[in-house]
Amino acid sequence: MDFFRKVPKIELHAHLNGSLSNRTLKELGAIKYGKDDPATTADECFYKITTGQSLTLKECFQKFKYAHDLTDQQETLAYATRAVIQDFAADNVVYLELRTTPKTTAHMSKKQYLTTVLDTIRKVQNEIPSITVKLLPSIDRSKGLQEAEENVSLVVELCEEYPDIIKGMDLSGAPFGTSFSDFGVILKKAQSCGLKMALHCGEFEDDDEIRDMFEFGTDRIGHGTFIRGTNLEVARKRGIPFECCLTSNVKCSTVSSYKEHHFKKLWDGGFAVCICTDDFGVFDTTLSQELSICCETYGLNLQDIIQLQENTIHYTFASEEEKQKLMEIFNNFKNTVKFV
Ligand SMILES: [Zn+2]
Repeated sequence: MDFFRKVPKIELHAHLNGSLSNRTLKELGAIKYGKDDPATTADECFYKITTGQSLTLKECFQKFKYAHDLTDQQETLAYATRAVIQDFAADNVVYLELRTTPKTTAHMSKKQYLTTVLDTIRKVQNEIPSITVKLLPSIDRSKGLQEAEENVSLVVELCEEYPDIIKGMDLSGAPFGTSFSDFGVILKKAQSCGLKMALHCGEFEDDDEIRDMFEFGTDRIGHGTFIRGTNLEVARKRGIPFECCLTSNVKCSTVSSYKEHHFKKLWDGGFAVCICTDDFGVFDTTLSQELSICCETYGLNLQDIIQLQENTIHYTFASEEEKQKLMEIFNNFKNTVKFV
């Protein structure tokens, strides 16, 4: 584990709300409700989180609900954003692309939500120079087209103020009953402003939708679990990177086991592929742990792990200058390790 922690790491698929550790949830609960408020102590699952007891899988998924509730004020949202960046930095993640869906809450407009996250990123990055952080604002497709329009307009507007942080957009959420082409039209507006696209793609069996996303021009593939046949060939030819989230997929049962995960096939087949956590707080993992699973399950060696992380530099939405700096970090790291 020590080695995996020491390797400089790049995280490209991490949702803010799902990346709140138990400790962060506990601290946010205390800020919002006070330490001994019944709202937190009477809730059995939240009580288990605050007292460090183990959770069932069903209880783990409740963390999304708590995160949503606890980040509805500017103060707690800023606290949460800071904590997530600190946690990634503590795991020696040197470059992070964070995602979040702007929300209107009882205390914030969507714009306030997004600027709170952006301002916190700017501030924390100055305090922790070892990590570079970007934001990919999301569209939750289950929320409908009007929300999507609002999010894209807001992102296009804020892009001018935060061009160094907003680098792309994400499309996530349950796709059922929606059509990608409707969202594609809306996302085009962001794409034509130079923003990159990191869409959740191929999470379910839907060859036509995957084809549409490729035609639209997604720059990365979120999960890509069910990409096959012609679509898989297109992904290979174009070198579209897959963001593989091992533990997330196993715990959500979109793959049956680590062993059966499509990462192995992609890695062996020479596809562009990287390892991500998706929601490390909910799934109780770290990027280091995901890399150690790659060694244990798929037989990657330590050089492969460094190579995997180095390859990931090319899949980021960072500037050429930032990519150069990341390469220097890896070159320096490689000079310090000796393999037996
Ligand atoms: Zn995701």
